[in-house]
Amino acid sequence: MTATALLFRDDAYARSCTARILAVTPEGGVVLDRTVFYTQGGGQPGDVGALVRSDGERIEIANTVYGPDRSQVLHLVGAEAVARLTPGESVELQLDWERRFKRMRVHTALHLLSVVLPYPVTGGAISDGDGRLDFDIPDAGLDKAELTDKLNALIARDAPVTDRWITDEELDANPGLVKTMSVQPPRGSGRVRLVEIEGIDLQPCGGTHVRRTGEIGRATITDIEKKGKQNRRVRLSLVD
Ligand SMILES: [Zn+2]
Repeated sequence: MTATALLFRDDAYARSCTARILAVTPEGGVVLDRTVFYTQGGGQPGDVGALVRSDGERIEIANTVYGPDRSQVLHLVGAEAVARLTPGESVELQLDWERRFKRMRVHTALHLLSVVLPYPVTGGAISDGDGRLDFDIPDAGLDKAELTDKLNALIARDAPVTDRWITDEELDANPGLVKTMSVQPPRGSGRVRLVEIEGIDLQPCGGTHVRRTGEIGRATITDIEKKGKQNRRVRLSLVD
């Protein structure tokens, strides 16, 4: 089975690409050989946008998810639309960039939040313009205004955000690297993608990030919710 090449991993700023249809599913999914559409996972929703055919017909993509074996990506367009599409056909993908860029800003802000609150993260979610992380914190005493100030101070440093792939062997050879990470890297797949916010954070992540923290713009902590004795749900929002 030909895997879908995940172009968003190498360039989160790519808004469109041409691609070839590998297959369509009866449920309304289009499998392409490559995609710029972030595929739902890690608390970040799948991208939305459009698939444009060579005759100019524009078909809306409502969500992007992994297929059953996770090597292929399904662009969900609905059963009625897939009936008109043929494997082998070349199409153009166009991302709803406004929505994706907001998610990139929120996602990167959540990395910074995990630095402001250096506690184990038990969950998280990203939506358009806001997001949350759940922390394992025994004692609360968290102040929204104080957290907001700390978060914006990190954003204002305008630190570069970069990613690189590292093999399991390289990880094993550099135990100090694992120690500096805020999240333990997953083992077993052979390689891990590391995302670094220079001088601030290093963690394994497969998501889409902005190039510099300054692109996040102002953010605010909107809510701190108690979720059980040891858990606090912290929500943030982009100010614009
Ligand atoms: Zn990330």
